[in-house]
Amino acid sequence: MPEGDPSRRTEQAGETDMNAWVVPEINLERCTRCGTCVERCPAGAVEMGPVGPFIARPWDCTYCALCEEICPEGAISLGYEITWGSP
Ligand code: SF4
Ligand code: SF4
Repeated sequence: MPEGDPSRRTEQAGETDMNAWVVPEINLERCTRCGTCVERCPAGAVEMGPVGPFIARPWDCTYCALCEEICPEGAISLGYEITWGSP
């Protein structure tokens, strides 16, 4: 089973389901393939694929937001889920 923060998994998560992890979103229309996010991700979670960077190891991503900060094109964004407390 991949390691990582279990609080970032969706409820339907299968153990090997890549879509079950909350990861930064990369807008490939804005991305220039500069490779900065791949080089600078402290967790080594980002790789360059044939069409651009992607989160290759979502279970290693710590959601630190560095990639969002350093992308020169503003192509990476971390989503935040808004939850409401119990009434
Ligand atoms: S840092 Fe931004 S522009 Fe550079 S490869 Fe990553 S997503 Fe693309
Ligand atoms: S949020 Fe942090 S750990 Fe996750 S991909 Fe971006 S730089 Fe890497």
